[in-house]
Amino acid sequence: MVDIAVVGGGPAGLTSAVYSRRAGKSVLVIEKAAFGGQITWSPRVENFPGTVSVSGTELGDRLLEQAMEQGADVELEEIISVIPPENGGCFTLKAASGASFEAKSVIIATGAKPRKTGLENEDKLIGSGVCFCAVCDGAFYSGKPVAVYGGGNSALQDALLLSEKCSMVYLIHRRDSFRGEAKLVEALKEKDNVRFVLNSVIEELVGDEELTGIVVNEDGQKHLIEIDGLFVAIGHMPDNGIISGIAELNEKGYAISDEKCTTVIPGLFVAGDCRTKPVRQVATACADGAVAALAACSWLDA
Ligand code: NAP
Repeated sequence: MVDIAVVGGGPAGLTSAVYSRRAGKSVLVIEKAAFGGQITWSPRVENFPGTVSVSGTELGDRLLEQAMEQGADVELEEIISVIPPENGGCFTLKAASGASFEAKSVIIATGAKPRKTGLENEDKLIGSGVCFCAVCDGAFYSGKPVAVYGGGNSALQDALLLSEKCSMVYLIHRRDSFRGEAKLVEALKEKDNVRFVLNSVIEELVGDEELTGIVVNEDGQKHLIEIDGLFVAIGHMPDNGIISGIAELNEKGYAISDEKCTTVIPGLFVAGDCRTKPVRQVATACADGAVAALAACSWLDA
């Protein structure tokens, strides 16, 4: 049994491992996909304190290295349920593989996953033209026309990255101004192969086996844009399925928590993008990791 099990190996989870280890607790970080989490999808991170510019994968690697250097154990497993202690026992975490782990306290740092468009055909065309990660899949569309959907930093970054390799990038956004940083918008305006399609929503994904185009409703006018790839970047949804039955979630599925990262279950903490908070950035995820770890350590000591 470990003192603290951390579910999720992104910036929040790995930072909580560093702080917990430095407080002398035994720690196990359990990640289902890639250590580094969502940040590994970011081509460049330029707003992490003390780091002028770093790729998301490198930042993820550094966070993992630091947590392991401090003595955290790590496992690649998908946790499918978290069972709170009964009669003063410990938490039990069950994995999809059949493995199970025991811990005196748990920090949930599961982050968020990309929001889908909900359009007909979407599920069928994922991997056949519909993508959610420009860093991972952009190279497949070299020299081809693509579209990016969304107006936040993810969409702007994706469009910039894709403009380096694709013949044309349509940036489709439902409003006439962007939620993402002005600096990224300015950089996109400099690109000859980027076209802003504003006040527009995608109404149809065209293609049976492969995506061949999208029907866009632009200010009430419908038109077809022929593309080979659509990169959906319309925000994220919290990945809180494993605590939905035990912790309190708000109407959008975020775990309700305060600045101490506590939940209604003693010994269960939440950190990072999966919890209610006003700003979701790598810096704030790391801040949560530190807070949740120290709260867990205090709870264990008490
Ligand atoms: P986001 O900031 O929530 O932006 C989502 C965008 O998608 C918004 O423009 C939104 O439109 C649009 N949208 C939402 N639902 C939609 C729908 N159903 N149909 C069409 N459009 C829809 O999400 P994000 O870009 O993934 O970023 C998430 C967080 O990570 C943000 O805090 C962001 O700053 C941060 N981030 C930071 C970096 C970085 O600093 N390096 C990189 C990526 C992301 P409206 O604007 O109309 O609401």
